[in-house]
Amino acid sequence: MKFPLELAIGNKWVPVKESADITFPYDGSVIAKTPVGNARLAKEAVEQAVSIRAEMAAMPSHARRKALMDTYDDIAARADEIEQILVLETGKPLVDCKVEVARTLLTLQTAAEEISKLHGETVPLDVSPAGEGMFGFWVRKPIGVVVAITGFNYPLLLAVHKLAPAIAAGCPVIIKPPPQAPITTIMLVTLLRDALSGVGGPEGGVQLVTGGPDVGEALTTDPRIGCVSFTGSAEVGHQIARAAAPTKVVLELGSNAALIVAADADLDAAADAVIRGGYYANGQACISVQRVIVVESVKDAFMAKLLPALDRVAVGDPRLPETRVAALIDSGSTGRVRSWVYSAVSAGATLAAGGGISGTALEPTVLLDVPDGADAWDEEIFGPVVAVRGVPDLDAAYDTLNNSRYGLHCSIFTSSLATAYDAVDRIEAGGIVINEVPGFRSDIAPYGGVKDSGIGREGPRFAMEEMTVTRMVAIRPS
Ligand code: NAD
Repeated sequence: MKFPLELAIGNKWVPVKESADITFPYDGSVIAKTPVGNARLAKEAVEQAVSIRAEMAAMPSHARRKALMDTYDDIAARADEIEQILVLETGKPLVDCKVEVARTLLTLQTAAEEISKLHGETVPLDVSPAGEGMFGFWVRKPIGVVVAITGFNYPLLLAVHKLAPAIAAGCPVIIKPPPQAPITTIMLVTLLRDALSGVGGPEGGVQLVTGGPDVGEALTTDPRIGCVSFTGSAEVGHQIARAAAPTKVVLELGSNAALIVAADADLDAAADAVIRGGYYANGQACISVQRVIVVESVKDAFMAKLLPALDRVAVGDPRLPETRVAALIDSGSTGRVRSWVYSAVSAGATLAAGGGISGTALEPTVLLDVPDGADAWDEEIFGPVVAVRGVPDLDAAYDTLNNSRYGLHCSIFTSSLATAYDAVDRIEAGGIVINEVPGFRSDIAPYGGVKDSGIGREGPRFAMEEMTVTRMVAIRPS
């Protein structure tokens, strides 16, 4: 793939000297040379964004909506090509990249629809004598410049979850994509800029500065930024929140997502959910199943269904439609995940399946009875590894689930409505899914975490709330 070595700064594409080789994780081959920015260009992008804040805010709703829907059409027309590029830059199986492109389209459409709902309310100021005769209302105003920083695992989807709401809310936005997988973000930025100028908006409403932490730091620490929207690891997210203060930050971070299997669960459905929800995207998803907490009385029956079902998780070349697990993003990640598996075994866990390497991929792995204190249980493993633990009852299951620094999405499998309601009260997480995988998401729903999994919410409506501020208006007519 050939790319001009240029970055989108202001209304121009600016040539840069530095470039990076992007490699296909499956075989290490170089698939593209992409432009790399620096802190100076990041500052230039901030200057440009600040200078067009008013122009972006003044773009009429119909124009913002058309820009998003024109981008929708462009991506839909190139879906096959974009899916293939996603496979190459992330190493994720084709089946997952198809889902990513489909969800990208839905996000654009949902953000376009939400524009018509971006409104305030009237306020009956005469609730107090001082307000008698007055008229009050509040409106939502763009927060200003948005900085978007994204992780490598779903680069296109994470980018669109920030860029589309920013445009919908009337904010100029600067994105720094992940260094490992910047290509589809460059494509998305190109399409959005063309769409913005096509409707008479400022092309520089969306800018792109590639690079690593130096570029990220230059963007997030600038006091002229209105909101930093970050998706990535908890460690980097916390670092950004500290460095960016007092600027508003929205943090979409990691987790060690749990799935509880109650004694009355449909065990076939629960085992199927662990297979579908534990290994997709090579297990490199923030809400892929990592901890399976099974009520002891059904643990053996559950394992008897889970282990044979692993045969469905085909390991291999991510370009093939049947592949479900392929190489992780880099060999360092593969080494780390394997070492966590083996240190869990040294700490007393049983390796029930996998653990080895097949080609360049880690085999889908199941660990049993990983003790507290082992990284494979306590931390986010971000690989195709599921850890199963038996507990005496549901009380112990909730305690075990909540005994984590993370709280993003969790699931429970049960046939009891009462248990489902109880779980909603007792599980500490941003989202609870009953009888489906924790990875279930809808673009019209709020999405985000508690504890170390994050601050703030995404999903276009909720991201737009984060990217706007309320402005109260009180009028005494005469
Ligand atoms: P990462 O934290 O290593 O990097 C994320 C981004 O931050 C990259 O663009 C990186 O270059 C940048 N960055 C690094 N240091 C920085 C700094 N000091 N200042 C500013 N930017 C900096 O994450 P990753 O490995 O790319 O992605 C995987 C992580 O993302 C996992 O923890 C995963 O759970 C999480 N994630 C969360 C969600 C969610 O919605 N909650 C979705 C996808 C991924």
